[in-house]
Amino acid sequence: MACCDEPKLLPVAHAIAQMQTAVNAVTQTETLPLTQLLDRINAAPLYANFNVPGYDNSAMDGYALYADGVSRNFTLVGQSLAGHKFTDTLKPGECVRITTGATIPQGANSVIMQENTQVQGTQVQLLSSPKPSDNIRRAGEDLSKGQMVFAAGHRFGPVDIALLASLGLAQVEVKRRLKIAVLSTGDELTPPGETLAEGHIYDSNRYGIIAMLNRLNVEVIDIGLIADQPDLIRSAFTRAATEADAIISSGGVSVGDADYVKDILTELGEISFWKVAIKPGKPFAFGRIGSAMFFGLPGNPVSAMVTLHQLALPVLQVMSGAQPEPVLQLTASAVNGYKKRPGRCDFQRARLYSDGQQNYITSTGAQGSGVLTSFVGANAYAVLEAERGSVATGELITAIAFDRFLQ
Ligand code: AMP
Ligand code: MG
Repeated sequence: MACCDEPKLLPVAHAIAQMQTAVNAVTQTETLPLTQLLDRINAAPLYANFNVPGYDNSAMDGYALYADGVSRNFTLVGQSLAGHKFTDTLKPGECVRITTGATIPQGANSVIMQENTQVQGTQVQLLSSPKPSDNIRRAGEDLSKGQMVFAAGHRFGPVDIALLASLGLAQVEVKRRLKIAVLSTGDELTPPGETLAEGHIYDSNRYGIIAMLNRLNVEVIDIGLIADQPDLIRSAFTRAATEADAIISSGGVSVGDADYVKDILTELGEISFWKVAIKPGKPFAFGRIGSAMFFGLPGNPVSAMVTLHQLALPVLQVMSGAQPEPVLQLTASAVNGYKKRPGRCDFQRARLYSDGQQNYITSTGAQGSGVLTSFVGANAYAVLEAERGSVATGELITAIAFDRFLQ
């Protein structure tokens, strides 16, 4: 190890891998119509049971004919419209009017765009020489019969749902949604909408956490705000563990006098680790209570969002039965320098942009773990890897553009 001021910290990648190994994917499934499939996780591989498209068809409005490379004058003998095909076989020198998506008639090998023709009565003169296969969409060009279309674990997006419909599927078997209990701990916290007493702050974490979980399309069980009292925390955790697949709490996880989360987690279940080499967000607890996995996020609002996004989400995705989503990492030139000591991987909030030649990344300002505004103004993380020290302006650094969970 090059240099670590806190050598007992668990590297981020190890923490994620360790957690992903410790959890199980939900096994229960349900069958849903296409209209309810968005962001649901495919339960079993899906195969095409016919070719898509099912028949050779025209990519253009024009004339279908046999292109022999020489003939330019054709006789119009009929039409093939989408949904109404021409049933005879074309003879050489004959053509039919054809519309986009209509079946290519027997005897035709090419479609000429109507813009490249001159038509008088039944005489069609070609203004260019079509080649065989021009403007023909072949049967099976999109999908061939028997081909796997979606693997198990695939999350269905809008285009996926259109493809399922094109295969004639009206419903699909998906994993059931995860149930996740969310709670905030802290005597100083007040729910938004109520009057703030002296020395109190509003509970912001629970709302950010629930919003991010909604993007993951899980069932959220809002346990609410729990004061820093061991009995209350104990009963909230116990209730959450019976109702949910996972519990996400924030606050009370470090070593202060009112930080009971770790002790109660140890008492009711087990704790696996709680110090990850991540900044912001070092106090992070992972464990289980009964069959529910437990994620104890730090109380500071920026730390809570970063640890939920960077540490817990990749684990929750595995629990939901999904294939973990690949993270798109870019390289960008640092517009400003960063002061840093090796030890923790720093996820600075920043703006990523390009001048068409190169990517640039610039800090969004004060990076304190309570400063949500610099997170709000950001569109990417400037990632300063654990082993890295200070960064000078102009150095290349890793950028991770915010994904659908943060934007
Ligand atoms: P803790 O981890 O409980 O020591 O909290 C660290 C800091 O985060 C303190 O300043 C807390 O007031 C603040 N904090 C804890 N929970 C929340 C919350 N749910 N919303 C906003 N700030 C919080
Ligand atoms: Mg607290």
